[in-house]
Amino acid sequence: MAAIDIKGVGKTYAGNVNAVSDISIAIADGEFIVLVGPSGCGKSTLLRMVAGLETITDGTVSIGNRVVNQIEPAERDIAMVFQNYALYPHMSVYDNLAYGLRNRGTPKVEIDARVAEAARMLELQPYLERKPRALSGGQRQRVAMGRAIVRKPAAFLFDEPLSNLDAKLRVTMRGEIKQLQKRLGTTSIYVTHDQLEAMTLADRLVVLNGGRIEQIGAPLEVYHRP
Ligand code: ADP
Ligand code: ADP
Repeated sequence: MAAIDIKGVGKTYAGNVNAVSDISIAIADGEFIVLVGPSGCGKSTLLRMVAGLETITDGTVSIGNRVVNQIEPAERDIAMVFQNYALYPHMSVYDNLAYGLRNRGTPKVEIDARVAEAARMLELQPYLERKPRALSGGQRQRVAMGRAIVRKPAAFLFDEPLSNLDAKLRVTMRGEIKQLQKRLGTTSIYVTHDQLEAMTLADRLVVLNGGRIEQIGAPLEVYHRP
């Protein structure tokens, strides 16, 4: 059974804007899917429907064996990573990482263990007491990833997480995400307009155009087609 099953999904915004039409993707457990395509092709709309940040007009989205169309974001077993980091500026790195777990009533020893593990993976140990403003862009993006990792969700949803970084750092962070992917094996959907990022990270690429699937396949299949 698919870890995430997107079936016949469509989105019509107010004013009859057809952003996404008839999308079906069965995402296997542990698979890393990258959504690519030109600006306005519907990548972000599709990701946000899976996340529960946008209502679904047509079709169904299932995570595990649950249809999540009507389920609040907080009830879906997912974690999202954004390009703007979405960190709490007044909290330390440690508190940023611990926040979601504390809200869920996770015991303190468990929080400490998970934060320590994420900090080790992301090389954030020296910065745990700092505020986000005292971090570099790359370090902030690592904290944003750390917040997703500590939750141990069934799936990660990435919305252009590297597009605010300079070109050199994008390459470094791309490699780090690849390492994390190997290590954690968490089912992921990753949105980008960067072709190299897509090629490096994807098990399967989904090329969208005008809100529909234009191509779907392994990176070499997709990019070597005439
Ligand atoms: P992408 O992420 O590929 O750039 P989007 O999903 O943001 O594409 O947008 C797909 C289409 O839906 C575009 O035509 C866009 O203008 C439209 N759209 C996106 N968000 C809204 C909205 N909130 N209301 C109306 N139209 C929207
Ligand atoms: P965290 O700080 O770890 O993101 P929160 O307590 O802020 O955790 O989030 C509670 C739930 O709401 C999470 O399980 C997540 O699924 C959802 N959620 C929070 N923020 C977002 C967001 N920006 N986009 C999508 N889902 C979100």
